[in-house]
Amino acid sequence: MKKSHKSLISTFSKLDISQKKFGDRSSILSNLSKIGYPIVEGFFISYDIMKQIEIGQQTPQIPNKFLECGPFCLRSSTNKTEIAGLEPFLYLGLNKEKIDELSITFGKKKLSQIYLNHIKNFGIRVFDLETDFFEHSILKTLNQKKINSVNNLDIKTLNYLISEFEEYYRSSLGFDFPEDPSDQIHYALKAIMNEWQSPTSKILRNSLGILNEDNIGVIIQKMIFKSLNSHIVDLEIQFIDSNTGEEKINGRYKKVGQNYTTAKPFEGTNYKKLLSKNIEIGRPKFNLFSNPFFKKIKELDKKTSTIYNKKFSYRFIVGAEDLFLIDAKKVNLKTSAILKMHMDCVKKGILSKDQIISKVEPDMFVQSLHPQISQNSGLNIIGVGLPASPGGVSGKVAFRAEEAIRMSSKGMTVILVRSETSSEDIRGMHASAGVLTLRGGMSSHAAVVARGLGKPCVVGVRNLSINSSLNSIITSEGEVLKSGDVVTIDGSNGHVLKGNANMVKPKLPKYFFEILDWASDRGKICIKANADTTKEAQQAKGFKVDGIGLCRTEHMFFEKKSLQIMQKILLSPSDNDKMNAITILSKIQELEFKKIFKIMRGKTVTTRLLDLPVHEFLPNSINELEILADELKMTFLQVSERCKQMAEINPMLGKRGVRLGILLPELYKMQVKAIIKASISVYGKNQKEFPPEIMLPMVSSFKEVNLLKKLIDDVVAEITKEFNFPINYKLGVMVETPRAALKAGELAVISSFLSFGTNDLTQMTYGLSRDDSGTFMRDYLEKGIFPVDPFRSLDLDGVGELLKIASKKSRAANPSIKIGICGEHGGDPESIDFCKKIGLDFVSCSPFRVPIARIAAAQ
Ligand code: PEP
Ligand code: MG
Repeated sequence: MKKSHKSLISTFSKLDISQKKFGDRSSILSNLSKIGYPIVEGFFISYDIMKQIEIGQQTPQIPNKFLECGPFCLRSSTNKTEIAGLEPFLYLGLNKEKIDELSITFGKKKLSQIYLNHIKNFGIRVFDLETDFFEHSILKTLNQKKINSVNNLDIKTLNYLISEFEEYYRSSLGFDFPEDPSDQIHYALKAIMNEWQSPTSKILRNSLGILNEDNIGVIIQKMIFKSLNSHIVDLEIQFIDSNTGEEKINGRYKKVGQNYTTAKPFEGTNYKKLLSKNIEIGRPKFNLFSNPFFKKIKELDKKTSTIYNKKFSYRFIVGAEDLFLIDAKKVNLKTSAILKMHMDCVKKGILSKDQIISKVEPDMFVQSLHPQISQNSGLNIIGVGLPASPGGVSGKVAFRAEEAIRMSSKGMTVILVRSETSSEDIRGMHASAGVLTLRGGMSSHAAVVARGLGKPCVVGVRNLSINSSLNSIITSEGEVLKSGDVVTIDGSNGHVLKGNANMVKPKLPKYFFEILDWASDRGKICIKANADTTKEAQQAKGFKVDGIGLCRTEHMFFEKKSLQIMQKILLSPSDNDKMNAITILSKIQELEFKKIFKIMRGKTVTTRLLDLPVHEFLPNSINELEILADELKMTFLQVSERCKQMAEINPMLGKRGVRLGILLPELYKMQVKAIIKASISVYGKNQKEFPPEIMLPMVSSFKEVNLLKKLIDDVVAEITKEFNFPINYKLGVMVETPRAALKAGELAVISSFLSFGTNDLTQMTYGLSRDDSGTFMRDYLEKGIFPVDPFRSLDLDGVGELLKIASKKSRAANPSIKIGICGEHGGDPESIDFCKKIGLDFVSCSPFRVPIARIAAAQ
């Protein structure tokens, strides 16, 4: 075993303690110490050394001089402060000899209590000794003595308990409690590593979305002890109000050694006011804020803010005449507070608007746009899935779309729970406040629709199952939840909780629109929204989008009335009935398009012709089949036979997209007519100046586009004749099959724009079903096979390569072509950055991602 001095770096060292090698806590502490904060003597241990300690290749040799000054505390330092670190080890190095030495100042009794506790905790954490044994011994003794707290035990009894614990070590482990301080520290370091690698820690990290993180560093420091007569205070303090961003001194304090539940809060606008509050502590008493170092800390905080442009919250150990920094974390400011700070910096001329935009975290708006579960909900997590659409919501479980609609019409808040959703669930999703699916990935049907609707959604929850009769969910603990039971879903972290949670309402922060305006002026790429309904179009308009980049028309077919008409079109044996149904549907669509064009007046709207496979429209219950047979004047058998004929083994790769339009041209003609007429009714004779954009989905060859262009041109010619003024439209193609990407040059020749459907393109490039990826995505991420979910953030190496090839070829073939993306990646900052780099003209994303995309695009 290698013993090394070099593995330890003094807390007073001027060396660079980088966050990447030592973790956030060590790096911050070291930097603050360099600025002048008084910190306690000790050592930093890096990630690498900790890994070597784990495998026995390293034993840090702690200098004897330091070892004499125990006891010590040992705290973990991880990559991000958000990652719940581990509980610190306290009182390391305490042994019989040390007790004797310290007893003079602290009293033997107090130290024996601490030692008893230390042996117990050390045994449990380091050697896996039974908690029950220790607890049982203590309880038995307290009962015998008729005493209710260890604090009231006399020294003799404490010593008796200590020897009982020591004997337990001997009998269980075959050796004594390690008295040697250096051994204690070494054991604790190994234990920290084990705890960090334990399944519990990993699950906790995963639940925060932090995968593949096994780095942990450590800080060993002397513990600050004061004599019995001069109490010291554990003080947490920050100089900013986390909610508002106003300058304010606030925090809490408690006596050292006491529980946080005893901590008392304080706040004040300035130092003098706090001083006058006269918070007196200890014997002899001293005022917490009269400590001579206190004023200095306030000045140091100012210095820190200027250097880091960040606010910190500090933890100090304060005595009457001295004070030590033991921890510092970046203050978790609410969005409104961050914006206020940014605004102040611009007003004072400290930073420019450009600098501010580059600093804003695009995702920080997510919180303000959706309800959040109150932090202290205290509910049990019963499942963890993928966070498909942000926000929290509690509601009653409904297992079918019809049930959701019925319950919501009675005023109930509903969570639609399905194995996976498909188009026939759309109405149920509309009626529900949130959606939970046990299968599916980040761009599964449920995820895409819920994001569009701005409703919280969790997908791919592995540790829940739906029973075969689809009327209850079973948790991994065997608990059963029935229809009508209340669950809470958190679409921001993928948690499913049992029961009703308190919610924090969404509130747009002050300065939100000002920051968005600055970003709009700077973004070199258009930000459009994927909006299928008037509601979504309104939301998108509220965020000042540059247009609608994708209106998925199939969603309009799932209003009950439209669905039945569509079923008639597909199944009716009479051509006359078919044509009548098409005319009715055309009117319904025209009305819908008209409303959307009106909302977006003056901005482009890209309407995509029908994409879904036919089977999605077919009746899927006996009841529906019976109703339809009646309507169509056919027998039940005839209708179900027709449906069977239309069924496909793999519908997502079957008769969908343009294939549908080519095989059932009446459908596409009907849609084109509705789009053109809607645009005429909004723009009248000026229609030509505001041409609607018509987009073809699932294209794989030039001939498909050519054929359909002719179909569209014929419809337009017919309408031109009817109105007798020039009518215009723009043709676009979705590039969402690998072949379309490779042949983009040909497609560009007859198109005005190309839009990458990166959901399908990712699915087909990987050969990975977007609806099934949720079942194994977590495993793939944990094993590091995928660095991120490729349905969430664009796979730059593979799918990205296709985008590059396609854009290059299409620009070469048609220099005036506009190119963008409309898959879910359009709202992901990293993917947007890539789109900008390869020179795309627009990104289109769910309305609620628009502010995020706007900021990302401007950075
Ligand atoms: C896509 O595939 O990226 C896309 C936008 O289309 P949809 O999600 O409707 O298949
Ligand atoms: Mg698609």
